[in-house]
Amino acid sequence: MGKQPHVVVIPYPAQGHVAPLLKLATKIAKHGIKVTFVNTEFIHAKIMASTPDKAEELSPVRLVSFPDGLEEGDDRNDFIKARNSMFRVMPGHLKDLIEKINKSSDSEQITCVIADISVKWALEVAQSMGIPRAVVIPYGPACLVLALHIPKLLEAGLIDTNGTALNDGLISLSEESLAWNGKEFPWSFPVDSNIEKLFFEFATAVAQTVRISNWVLSNSFYELDSSSCDLVPSILPIGPLLVSNHSGHFAGSLRPEDSTCLSWLDKQPMGSVIYVALGSITTLNQQQFDELALGLESSCQPFLWIVRSDLVTESFRGFPDGFKERIGSRGKIVEWAPQEKVLANSSLACFLSHCGWNSTMEGLSMGVPFLCWPYFGDQYQNKNYICEGWKIGLELTPDENGVVTRHEIQKKVKKLLSDDGIKANSVKLKEMARRSLVEGGSSFNNFQKFIVQMKSS
Ligand code: UDP
Repeated sequence: MGKQPHVVVIPYPAQGHVAPLLKLATKIAKHGIKVTFVNTEFIHAKIMASTPDKAEELSPVRLVSFPDGLEEGDDRNDFIKARNSMFRVMPGHLKDLIEKINKSSDSEQITCVIADISVKWALEVAQSMGIPRAVVIPYGPACLVLALHIPKLLEAGLIDTNGTALNDGLISLSEESLAWNGKEFPWSFPVDSNIEKLFFEFATAVAQTVRISNWVLSNSFYELDSSSCDLVPSILPIGPLLVSNHSGHFAGSLRPEDSTCLSWLDKQPMGSVIYVALGSITTLNQQQFDELALGLESSCQPFLWIVRSDLVTESFRGFPDGFKERIGSRGKIVEWAPQEKVLANSSLACFLSHCGWNSTMEGLSMGVPFLCWPYFGDQYQNKNYICEGWKIGLELTPDENGVVTRHEIQKKVKKLLSDDGIKANSVKLKEMARRSLVEGGSSFNNFQKFIVQMKSS
């Protein structure tokens, strides 16, 4: 009799990576496959502190954790330090874990290691142990295509060895997919050249990581960007990965969700609320924070605004004078929300978003039009897809000083809410996403294919 399959799943330790991989892990476990999910101890503690007591008992996924090699007070936002430290200590822990599982039971063995594209070392450990490997792409297929084209871009003299575009024109990778602006590559980070270098290094390593993987799982669906998917023959789009497809368990939030916003949403008129959430790491300066507050105030719509405790960079001086009194119950402000449940609420009118890939997938899966405010990484190209490709949103344009003003916010909210074309496209895309996940749909079929192949590998 064959051994019972057991997979190990390893995300990159950040909100936008942990959540989609945990959703994938849960989906796999629902197919009767044992799943061990590996976090760093730091992330594990955050998940446990943010999760209701029963989740651990109910979850079909077993969570374990490794040290990341950093000291307690070390800055885990220091990408370079964190990357080096994890690379030093985590491969050894992974090897030990796999050996321990394989030894502990005659009927079980690790069938597959599933790792985030940014955790190449885990796939290398699996390769060295002869274990099949799946890589998960937590960003869109267009970014994957770009990363895989880096050698060609270098050869054509379109970028230099630091990843900087050598001229101003747009870069097109195929006739059908959206072109890239050379100032908006996912690795572009003009304020810190060391970080930009690290991001470009990550992007350059993608081709090799894909090469050593038996499966390339993408949190997207084929119909959403078929031209990019067609450029990567090995890609298996299996998304959108949504928590709402599963019941209870770990949602993968690193912060406690404030559910009071759901009952507040239930009291708002249908299609009226602006949901404002800029993801887990985006920050604003006080001036920009004030403009956003005053823009929401002048929009005259109800709004739900996620104000994380670390949203404002320098010392936070609070909301503009009298803001909270003036908006009264028209505005609800929380530190962290159950985002998918918020987006699914019928009171929503639009999603003012930084266009992180998870937020993009979640918003479009719920049919909510976007107001786009990208900051860095893949967010600019995601915004281009939202506004130009799929036509389900509008962009907030900064003024000559780089500030998105209250007038811009007020103007674009009004424009978006009266645009029936955008609303209709959003509903169409929601339906496309839904169809891809149900029996016979493209993501459904790709996921089945992956499970069958993995079980028999
Ligand atoms: N999110 C959430 N509650 C919030 C704000 C965000 O659960 O109040 C989740 C959101 O659903 C998404 C993730 O945080 O899954 C953010 O990921 P994304 O890729 O959009 O952006 P990042 O944080 O990586 O910049």
